[in-house]
Amino acid sequence: MGHVFCIANQKGGVGKTTTSVNLAAALARRGHRVLLVDLDPQGNATMGSGIDKRTLERSVYQVLVGLSGLEEATLRSESGGYDVLPANRELAGAEVELVDLPRREFRLRDALAAAPSTYDFVLIDCPPSLSLLTLNALTCAHGVIIPMQCEYYALEGLSDLANTIKRVHANLNRDLRIVGLLRVMFDPRVTLQQQVSEEVQRHFGEKVFATVIPRNVRLAEAPSHGMPGVVFDPRSRGALAYLEFAAELERRLGVAAPLAEAH
Ligand code: ADP
Ligand code: MG
Repeated sequence: MGHVFCIANQKGGVGKTTTSVNLAAALARRGHRVLLVDLDPQGNATMGSGIDKRTLERSVYQVLVGLSGLEEATLRSESGGYDVLPANRELAGAEVELVDLPRREFRLRDALAAAPSTYDFVLIDCPPSLSLLTLNALTCAHGVIIPMQCEYYALEGLSDLANTIKRVHANLNRDLRIVGLLRVMFDPRVTLQQQVSEEVQRHFGEKVFATVIPRNVRLAEAPSHGMPGVVFDPRSRGALAYLEFAAELERRLGVAAPLAEAH
């Protein structure tokens, strides 16, 4: 099933969805076959991929509770060039229903395993919590990409996430590791952000991606057009940063980009 990564941070508004959608589009532009799994009941990754969450016949919810296979619920993001397992508010109920189901932490993993493995990358956009939904993402992932803002309290929240990842690694998924921390919404003019950025590098070293995603209004505008920023304005600073991030990720993984020379 290729590389399965979840984009996680239990804080809301830290750039998980923006990173998921733009990394999916950037990898797709570089020639990879990508599936984006929206695991947040807010359905922002779904909408940001140009898919209307209000008119879904099936979603990740049906897949998790066993009412649909993964393939039947998967849609195409025409704007993004990748596939989407979409989500909407129905998913909020899954949390309660999953508790009573067998293999409740492995529902997504089992669904992915049962589908034909045609993807180079599966990216999972996690909700802002360390819930059973996030656990489902962590049990089926090879790695976690952690977007973070360089703010004063950023490091504090990271230790909870790191502990959860350790526990999942020990008990549920020996493959799981932190792929890296991605600094997002970065504004180099803010001294505090620079200081926190340096502290993050000291603390996490190699685990910090070299690419930094700047604060860029085009990335924030893109979702209202139903497009990833990488597609909406490919020349914007934000888009270029996410394209560079995809290239850095490939280098780290040692995978080649089928279409990289096009950029
Ligand atoms: P999360 O999924 O972690 O809740 P989002 O990706 O939805 O976070 O981002 C929160 C808000 O910040 C959104 O309005 C988004 O458009 C905006 N945003 C995210 N990344 C950037 C960026 N690099 N520059 C400007 N705005 C951004
Ligand atoms: Mg989100």
